[in-house]
Amino acid sequence: MKTHTLLMPLDMHLHLRDAVMLENVAPLSAYSFSGAIVMPNLVPPVESKEDVIAYKERIMAAVPNDYFEPYMTLFYKNYDKAFLLDIADEITAIKLYPAGITTNSEGGVNSFDIEEMRETLETMSELGIPLCVHGETDGFVMDREAEFMSIYELLAKNFPNLKIIMEHITTKAAVDMLDKYDNLYATITVHHLLITLDDVVGGMMQPHLFCKPIAKRPEDLDALLGLALEAHPKVMFGSDSAPHPQHKKESCGCAAGVFTAPMALQLLCEIFEQFDKLDNLQAFVSDNAQNIYGICPEFKEVILEKRPFVVPENYSGVVPMYAGETINWAIESVE
Ligand SMILES: [Zn+2]
Repeated sequence: MKTHTLLMPLDMHLHLRDAVMLENVAPLSAYSFSGAIVMPNLVPPVESKEDVIAYKERIMAAVPNDYFEPYMTLFYKNYDKAFLLDIADEITAIKLYPAGITTNSEGGVNSFDIEEMRETLETMSELGIPLCVHGETDGFVMDREAEFMSIYELLAKNFPNLKIIMEHITTKAAVDMLDKYDNLYATITVHHLLITLDDVVGGMMQPHLFCKPIAKRPEDLDALLGLALEAHPKVMFGSDSAPHPQHKKESCGCAAGVFTAPMALQLLCEIFEQFDKLDNLQAFVSDNAQNIYGICPEFKEVILEKRPFVVPENYSGVVPMYAGETINWAIESVE
């Protein structure tokens, strides 16, 4: 039986939610990942030192038997230097949402006024705190990410010492932007390496594949695969696994988000094997992130095996990607 071993997998963009949902989904990530960048878009958002510490405690309480490091993030607002100095030790990154662009982002940034943002972003540069960005405008849905490239350029040029992470990129435009500035990095999900908009709405509408940013065109998928399969050193895996209760997805007014945490590594093995690039997967799921963020996760060894695995229909009321379908890799053991 063919196997593949991954050491200290990291999920650099994860939604763990809160309360019962947190208790249900956190153990699924903690099982196979050494750590994850945990997104702060709760209601209300995570925007104080007390919020960060309390949320981290709730996450740790939800994963009592697994070693798992939640790398905490703060919801971006314009903060002053004293606040950032005080909170720096508690956070790994700060996440910026344009106002209203995705789930629970109403309190995000309304205008990208560099002078208003300067104190925050210069302090983050000095302290080495990366800025994670949901890069979409409020334009036409297929063009939102491409339109945001000018804002990435503005930020990258004005703050050359700030590490800026273009989160969950979905377009060739973002792929082309990556190497234009030394301080731009990117995360890529597993679902954006598998689907285009055709898979979401080309036939019967598939609510469990509906997410923000939406999947794009075949040429975008090819550009993303090009980066991921070569494990470009500025690119990391970030699942953007975003659980919603089944009734919020299978309803009029479907919530955005694809739930992939429990089978992300299996699907990545399938993709990388298909293109004969399994040797690059370790860099994509861990080594690049360790280098970019300067983090050193606790040891975890995940052995995957090439055998049929039927994806469960749901996990505590959350329907995963490919529910009920058979994929070609399974997790054999975790140590
Ligand atoms: Zn996200």
